[in-house]
Amino acid sequence: MEEIKVMLKEKDIPKQWYNLAADLPNPPLPPLGPDGNPIGPEMLAPVFPMNLIEQEVSTDRWIDIPEEILDILYRWRPAPLRRAVYLERYLDTPAKIYYKDESVSPPGSHKPNTAVPQAWYNKQFGIERLTTETGAGQWGSALAFACSLIGLECKIFMVRISFDQKPFRKIMMEVWGGNCVPSPSPETNAGRKILEEIPDTPGSLGIAISEAIEQAVTDPTGKTRYSLGSVLNHVMLHQTIIGQEAKAQLKLLGEKDPDVVIGCAGGGSNFAGLAFPFTQDKINGADIEIIPVEPTACPTMTRGPFAYDFGDTACTTPLMAMYTLGHAFIPPPIHAGGLRYHGMAPLVCQCIVEGLHSPRSIDQVECYEAALTWARTEGFICAPETSHAIAGAIQEAKKAKEEGKEKVILFSYSGHGLMDLTGYDAFLSGKLTKYSLPDEELEKTEVCLKDFPPAEMKKSGKW
Ligand SMILES: *Cc1c(COP(=O)(O)O)cnc(C)c1O
Repeated sequence: MEEIKVMLKEKDIPKQWYNLAADLPNPPLPPLGPDGNPIGPEMLAPVFPMNLIEQEVSTDRWIDIPEEILDILYRWRPAPLRRAVYLERYLDTPAKIYYKDESVSPPGSHKPNTAVPQAWYNKQFGIERLTTETGAGQWGSALAFACSLIGLECKIFMVRISFDQKPFRKIMMEVWGGNCVPSPSPETNAGRKILEEIPDTPGSLGIAISEAIEQAVTDPTGKTRYSLGSVLNHVMLHQTIIGQEAKAQLKLLGEKDPDVVIGCAGGGSNFAGLAFPFTQDKINGADIEIIPVEPTACPTMTRGPFAYDFGDTACTTPLMAMYTLGHAFIPPPIHAGGLRYHGMAPLVCQCIVEGLHSPRSIDQVECYEAALTWARTEGFICAPETSHAIAGAIQEAKKAKEEGKEKVILFSYSGHGLMDLTGYDAFLSGKLTKYSLPDEELEKTEVCLKDFPPAEMKKSGKW
């Protein structure tokens, strides 16, 4: 048997995060405040600690990872790079399929890669309590985990539909000492308002974000801040250890650079974490196809306009230039809860504008079929979100077969699905159907965005 798993030693863990903002030909457009002017760092100060705001706006190419953070990450990092030979055999493809296994962290996804540094920098800044939102529960459990190790209180607003579908994630949060409530909740103005309008709403990430921000900024002691698990620049930054490790692991195997890099994208962080170090190579001339995959039910990158929009439903965040379905978008209750966000990381969006990344949407039925193929070949049960990356990798492996090319495909295995079995149950009992967002919904997007300043698509024309 050839080598099909590559481990790095503790001493080989990346010592710096990679900041793509340093290398993009055109930087992302600046976030705008309520007056339509670019915001300064101080405007984010009620929401985030200044040390993280500095990372958010940094254009330094490399940022050192503090030793104390590495000391926590060693629990599961460096993470394995695996080759999916059993899937390759089943597909009878000449392609080699590698995946970076982020499911091995204690909460079971890539999310602790940023939860740990975020909790650490907040603690350094004198913060005592973090609030956040969670969709499928992955982020909430990752932050509760990080807060328990670092010594912070953690309050989590969990999207109602997931709270009902995934009760075990809530229990995980409680095991790590977190306090989790369904959103919309009666605890905040934002939550009460939605509950009055739509009492049986399934909730959305946008609503939950509004609730978490409101609780952070209204704490009279000033010791509470808000923490976001995706979308923001500093989150993408923290995740880049994924791609840096993968590069070193492919090299150890003597493998050539990947032809295709794939990740599922909800807010963009696991995808960016794997893809940004390879995007740097692409900017410097490498020939790599880089594909973020999203659901056809929530087609932000493939059908949404590039526009200025709020990050949350209650319009409390700055306006960000991104692909978006509109902050009022309430996505259909698909099981890939982590992919139900209306927007996308501005850094990923700028890569799409440049043509560096080529987004794709895949229907949930094809994704669950891919997840079953995966479980019945490789053996592991993936998260519903991750199934989108697997479905993308299978599409690419089939294409390589048609073309007769021995391509190297690398994808991000963002998490396991052992807490998400209700989605598998729905699929196995034939309850899941194909669902593509109807065009009428996109008309609502246009109405929602019409009063915002236009977002210019700045493009170097190189890709
Ligand atoms: C949260 C989550 C995602 C989506 O979030 P990104 O920020 O786009 O990575 C994908 N996969 C898993 C397993 C998740 O928990």
